[in-house]
Amino acid sequence: MTGFSATVLTLYPEMFPGPLGASLSGKGLEKGIWSLETVQIRDFATDRHRSVDDTPAGGGPGMVLRADVVGRALDSVAADDRPRLLMSPRGRPLDQGRVRELAQAPGVVILCGRFEGVDERVIEGRGLSEVSIGDYVLSGGEIAATVVLDAIVRLLPGVMGKVSSGSEESFETGLLEYPHYTRPQVWEGRTIPEVLTSGDHGAVARWRHERAEEITRERRPDLWRAWRDARGTDPARK
Ligand code: SAM
Repeated sequence: MTGFSATVLTLYPEMFPGPLGASLSGKGLEKGIWSLETVQIRDFATDRHRSVDDTPAGGGPGMVLRADVVGRALDSVAADDRPRLLMSPRGRPLDQGRVRELAQAPGVVILCGRFEGVDERVIEGRGLSEVSIGDYVLSGGEIAATVVLDAIVRLLPGVMGKVSSGSEESFETGLLEYPHYTRPQVWEGRTIPEVLTSGDHGAVARWRHERAEEITRERRPDLWRAWRDARGTDPARK
C-alpha cells in the first residue's frame, strides 16, 4: 500500500470522490499521494430484499443500521493499522490537532451512518472511534467523511505544493488567521493597510500577529483563553 489510503463504507458510494476529486485533493488522488476506495454496505446484506436496517429495539422513530451487516462490511476491509472512524454527531468534535494526527496515519477507514445511526454493538465490537464535524445533525455521514478527508489530505506531503506548511493558518498557531489583501491597491475606495506594502518584514509580521490576536479575542473567546493560558502571563513567550 503506498500513500495515504482511505476506505469509506457507505450506502451511497456514488457520493465519492465528489468534491475530493477536484482541486488539490483531486490532483493528490491523480498523483497517487492518497487513494480512495468505497465499500457498499448493502453488498453485505443477506436477505432477498438486501436490508441493511431495522426498527430500533425499545421502539421509537426511524431505523438503525444492523450490526451484522455493518460488521461484515467492516470485516471485508483489510485488517491493518488504519484508525477506524464512525461519523457521528455524538463523537469527539474534529479539530486541527486530530486532523494532524490522522494525517500521520497510513490511512483511515470511515463508516458513514444513515437513518438514526448504527447499532451500538458494532461500534463497541469493532472499536470504532466516533468523530463529529460539529453540533448539528446531517442526514448521513458521507458529507462529514468528505470534510474529514479534505482536511487530512491537504496536509499530506506534496498536496499543497509551495504553501505546504500551512503553518500560519487558523488553528495551526492557536490563533485565527490575520486578514489577507491582494491587488488592486484600491477597491471601491478601500485601501490595503499601508504596513503591508512598506517592505518592512518585521512590521508586517507584528501587524499580522496583532490582527490575529484581535480577531481571535473578538470572535473566539474559547480559543483566546486557551492560547493565553498556554503562554502563561509572560508576554516574552508570545
Ligand atoms: N440519531 C442521530 C443522533 O441524534 O445523534 C443522528 C443520525 S443522523 C440523521 C445520520 C448519520 O449522519 C449519523 O449516523 C452520522 O453518520 C451522520 N452525521 C450526522 N450529523 C453528523 C455530525 N455532526 N458529524 C458527523 N456525522 C454526522
